Amino acid sequence: MTRLLTPEDIARIVAAHGLPDVLRRLEDAITAGFRRWGDFDKTARVASHSARGVIELMPIADATHYSFKYVNGHPDNTRSGLPTVMAFGVLADVATGAPLWLSELTLTTALRTAATSVMAARALARPEPRTMALIGNGAQSEFQALAFHHGLGVRALRVFDTDPQATAKLLRHLHGVPGLAVTVHGSTAEAVRGADIVTTVTADKRNATIITPDMLAPGMHLNAVGGDCPGKTELHPEVLRAAQVFVEYEPQSRIEGDVQQMPADFPVTELWRVLTGQATGRRGAEAVTVFDSVGFALEDYAALRLMAQLAQPLGLGRPLDLIPALPDPKDLFSQLGQARAQALAA
Ligand code: NAD
Repeated sequence: MTRLLTPEDIARIVAAHGLPDVLRRLEDAITAGFRRWGDFDKTARVASHSARGVIELMPIADATHYSFKYVNGHPDNTRSGLPTVMAFGVLADVATGAPLWLSELTLTTALRTAATSVMAARALARPEPRTMALIGNGAQSEFQALAFHHGLGVRALRVFDTDPQATAKLLRHLHGVPGLAVTVHGSTAEAVRGADIVTTVTADKRNATIITPDMLAPGMHLNAVGGDCPGKTELHPEVLRAAQVFVEYEPQSRIEGDVQQMPADFPVTELWRVLTGQATGRRGAEAVTVFDSVGFALEDYAALRLMAQLAQPLGLGRPLDLIPALPDPKDLFSQLGQARAQALAA
């Protein structure tokens, strides 16, 4: 029987465990997945581009589970009352092909993206980052802010968005979070001043230059989340040249990440190699590191499995009549019921 996880179910899981705990479990699950990189059958996601956005399918499998995510990216959607990013997906049993879970993945994507950002920063940023700039204050922003606060101890958040209403919404949500001071700035250049970590999570379907070389400071870590599609980037090419660049899955990131702007031989390091000790992370305290995040199927696989695991003891995940239950698996025709007689009479 397939089970359904709705956004409300995910909210209940977060309510039951608390956001810091769910983010920590997600980070652990994603890290564990990246550490057994070789176990997965991987592919760059399949993208269908249109004038206003992109719709993508993200499949991955190991020996036990197969998952895919359907996700879109339409930066102009918010003007017509829809989110920029919407997603759902499936976790299936490899042995039989049976779909076990059908899940919302819009909330889950925000959670897993924030957990992945923290995983990368834990491996790449200088120890004990205290100040983060957050450029882009839309749907993902609270998740990023709270993940870095709870996960890495960020205490000062310097925020900027071209849309003051988005920033006002972020401020409302973060108001009163103990130990987190939020300041609003009038530009990206102002917000990034003195930041240990700079998170860019903007949405604009063009080669934007949110971060330019003059904004870099020695030792900075850039968590570049919003450049995730051909023709949609956030970092000036010279920022990438000045930095050590880390990616999730190179074949996908070369097409979608900020590194799409660079020659094919521009050096990048896949994050799993750092997490398994096969490659070094930052070269020194003065180095600038970039996590060129685009979102990889393994993160959704790990998130789907974790959410399914957390849902069960809470009695969440209602059975979904998705696949016909056949008393005789070779007799699919009976499932037509009354229509069967009509079909035979016709
Ligand atoms: P959103 O539309 O809700 O928010 C984006 C915000 O960026 C908006 O408030 C917008 O005003 C702001 N913005 C646009 N241009 C800006 C600029 N030049 N300077 C400052 N702010 C600017 O979108 P969202 O759901 O928060 O997603 C943000 C981005 O993250 C999208 O591009 C999305 O595709 C990407 N994303 C990436 C991953 C990943 O795994 N890497 C996962 C989810 C979303």
